[in-house]
Amino acid sequence: MGSAALMCLMRGHRVAHPPSQSFGEASRATAAAHPAGITPEAFDFQFWMLRSEFPGGPTQRDMNLFRIRNCFFAIVLFSAGALAVAQEQTGPAKAVSKGKPDDQPNMEIEKFGLVLHGGAGTIERSKMTPEREREYRAGLERALMTGYKILKRGGSSLDATEAAVRVLEDDPHFNAGKGAVFTSAGTNEMDAAIMDGKTLVAGAVASLRHIKNPISLARLVMEKSGHVMMDGEGAEAFAREHGIELVDQKYFYTQERWEALEKVKAAEKSRTGAAGKAFIITDQDRHGTVGAVAVDRNGNLAASTSTGGTTNKRPGRVGDSPVIGAGTYANNSTCAVSATGDGEYFIRATVAHDVSALMEYRGMSLKEAAQSVLDKVAKLGGSGGLIAIDRHGNIALPFNTSGMYRGYVDPNGKFVVEIYK
Ligand code: ASP
Repeated sequence: MGSAALMCLMRGHRVAHPPSQSFGEASRATAAAHPAGITPEAFDFQFWMLRSEFPGGPTQRDMNLFRIRNCFFAIVLFSAGALAVAQEQTGPAKAVSKGKPDDQPNMEIEKFGLVLHGGAGTIERSKMTPEREREYRAGLERALMTGYKILKRGGSSLDATEAAVRVLEDDPHFNAGKGAVFTSAGTNEMDAAIMDGKTLVAGAVASLRHIKNPISLARLVMEKSGHVMMDGEGAEAFAREHGIELVDQKYFYTQERWEALEKVKAAEKSRTGAAGKAFIITDQDRHGTVGAVAVDRNGNLAASTSTGGTTNKRPGRVGDSPVIGAGTYANNSTCAVSATGDGEYFIRATVAHDVSALMEYRGMSLKEAAQSVLDKVAKLGGSGGLIAIDRHGNIALPFNTSGMYRGYVDPNGKFVVEIYK
């Protein structure tokens, strides 16, 4: 009935025959009158339907009633279809605006999220005192709170990650800013980078010796220098010109980092045979980094990373943290990433960009991409971890060491801080 009805509606054909004419004759007459019209199959179908309703053959009146009824059904069917399509189009929009002020049209971009790390390495519960653990946790919580407040009031992910990283740079427990490790020359040299996922602009600094908060200089490079990366004295002169805080190298002295340097030097000596003593050097003694990734209420992603590098590194050595695409990367269409671990391996594996590329080109989820890139680092012989977030607020925090200082704000606004595996 449906096809006959639609045919009637669409073609609007008339049967030109006398009232007494049988349907067989009528159909032949119609076919002759409309040579390019009804196909023989459709005609046979109409004929079959009419014959089953009017076994004795339909009159002209029967034909007209039959046509009117079919047209009525066609209109009903057509209207129902149109209504279903209209509902499908307006449905999600209604769900999105439910319970929201009119000036916030898209719930998707209402979400925000923040993840941070304070370095990955050999972090064993048995070697950690409760007091020390409390201090690490408090530091991570302070940084989370600082970034979270910015995001909550509608601030940008760039501001939130920079501010969170500054808190960790000021905390001597973490290897960045104040707590930076020492080079083999007994100096402190710091690297940092920041990237805006919306515009793909980035700023990076390396081998800084007097900048209290390297992440803020990285941002200044991004916004004011016309360059992506600056290092050493040139970067510090640029900082001075723009009123960024410079400090004496003494500011970066901490007893713990100094002892770590002595330990690593002694261990190296013993390896070369000068002394027979065995030294147990953990990743804690060797390196560490801080980083933050976030998505803000506008759906913009950002990543910030800052580090003192590795203990006993040669002066001038630069790790992965300030290398865009290795230790730091952000792209609104995929994710924001900040890495920590053996920098040389992370550079060779182009870790941060690889996570993004696997999502973009292979369609992997954030978690799959993050884990498979870390597996690649492990295959090369490197250890460490990374934090990542996508624009929907999904997060990933994989690491292949015994611990990683890390924290995030879950979708309900709950703060989660973890250290061990
Ligand atoms: N990736 C840093 C570097 O190699 C160190 C670390 O994160 O532990 O400079």
